[in-house]
Amino acid sequence: MPNSRHVAIIGGGCAGLSAAVALLERGYAVTIFEASAQLGGRARTVVVKNNNPPQKLDNGQHILLGAYRETLAMLHTIGVDEKAAFLRVPLQISMQSGRTKTEFSLKSAHHLPAPLNLLFGLLTCKGLSFAERAAAIKLMLQLKRSHYQIAEDSALAQFLIGRKQSPKLIQMLWEPLCLAALNTPIAKASTRVFLNVLRDTFTGQKTNSDFLLPRLDLSQIIAQPASRYIQEKDGVIRLNQRIHSLTVANNALGKESFNLVSSKESYHFSQVILAVSPASAALFLATQPTLKRAYALTQNYTYQPIYTIYLQYAAETKLPEVMTGMTKTPGQADIISQWVFDRGQLCGQNGLLAVIVSAEGQHQNLTQEALALQVAQELAQAFPSLTKPLWHKVIAEKRATFSCVPNCNKPSNKTAQAQLYLAGDYTYADYPATIEGAVRSGIACANLIANCLE
Ligand SMILES: Cc1cc2nc3c(=O)[nH]c(=O)nc-3n(C[C@H](O)[C@H](O)[C@H](O)COP(=O)(O)OP(=O)(O)OC[C@H]3O[C@@H](n4cnc5c(N)ncnc54)[C@H](O)[C@@H]3O)c2cc1C
Repeated sequence: MPNSRHVAIIGGGCAGLSAAVALLERGYAVTIFEASAQLGGRARTVVVKNNNPPQKLDNGQHILLGAYRETLAMLHTIGVDEKAAFLRVPLQISMQSGRTKTEFSLKSAHHLPAPLNLLFGLLTCKGLSFAERAAAIKLMLQLKRSHYQIAEDSALAQFLIGRKQSPKLIQMLWEPLCLAALNTPIAKASTRVFLNVLRDTFTGQKTNSDFLLPRLDLSQIIAQPASRYIQEKDGVIRLNQRIHSLTVANNALGKESFNLVSSKESYHFSQVILAVSPASAALFLATQPTLKRAYALTQNYTYQPIYTIYLQYAAETKLPEVMTGMTKTPGQADIISQWVFDRGQLCGQNGLLAVIVSAEGQHQNLTQEALALQVAQELAQAFPSLTKPLWHKVIAEKRATFSCVPNCNKPSNKTAQAQLYLAGDYTYADYPATIEGAVRSGIACANLIANCLE
């Protein structure tokens, strides 16, 4: 009979890693099986070898929030120094257009407690009329009174129009926040989940709304320190070991356990956390009659892409801000670029800009060459001092996150099969696909195991 205090974790993304850390802290043994050659899953660093010299780039520019309580606690546990890992900035949004003009800017008043910090920011923001600022403040006050709850979930665009938010207010404030937080077009995004994010960001401590912008590459912040911590505590990490099948076996005493089979070996465990994406989880769940419901829920998910366009300019190139929103001017054709990050100011990658394009859109019909060219042109219009990029690299994560649509019914961490648990951003009930959702799901699985055995 396998040791009941030794847990198999299938998947070494943020969910699997946080489950491992939480279990090791409680004195359990863990083995992580990861299909790829590195840990980190959708939050990882890749080495682009055809650049000279080879470049280390994140699979996508990530932003964390001060409200990511469990993620920050986990990073502390595994020895990450927050000051070295992140630039922490109080919420500020600056939207630049192709007319080289700042169309909108908002700075939260970080000397005030939440939510006054945001309300003051809305009152004094630039680029909106007094009536638009008043409508945004009124909505935030209504939401606060209703504890950010709504009776019926609906698409966010519909909700905002119903609350008298003008097209410009939606374009400058709500839509960029929706894309950044939910990675889902505002016409499809869940109002309820968006309000959950607003609640966690704008209630409680004022630092909850801080942006944490990585100063190091993602693997240095998550995968590498987690790997060191897990191995120091005698956890086992098996890279390049895709688990192909997971079956339930009965021993002579009628006790159930699991057989895990990879391309290399087979293993026997009495507790398993399946910490993979919903599409990968479905492959395992489909084979177990008891797991029909969880399987059916994984079939509800559709996915949204995130494209990151890296453009390398001359090393002395510097943008006015580390993070700038891109928007169109009234009457101008739609633009593709949404946010641009100056990686030189952030991580010392001088002259490297990372442009984020969240969610589905026309840009998916372009070749990577054409996309990079178009984005470079948009940047040159907004920042005329930019010259021609020296090189570019497009990283297209086609299934970056699940589509965060209204009334998405999510599977729970506990399954109908005893001792089999589901972790992953898609299981964290009230959140969009985020690092925090993934981390919380891993901790929830660790708690379920500990509560069951202790
Ligand atoms: C480009 C991009 C930008 C993003 N930006 C942000 C952001 O700014 N802020 C934010 O909070 N979130 C962001 N996210 C979302 C965030 O990265 C994810 O929500 C989070 O990393 C998901 O973690 P996870 O552990 O649930 O899943 P994953 O990271 O997908 O981990 C699953 C792991 O399981 C492994 N696996 C799959 N099948 C098997 C198998 N059969 N056997 C063994 N291993 C297997 C996979 O290789 C993978 O490593 C972004 C995501 C992307 C892609």
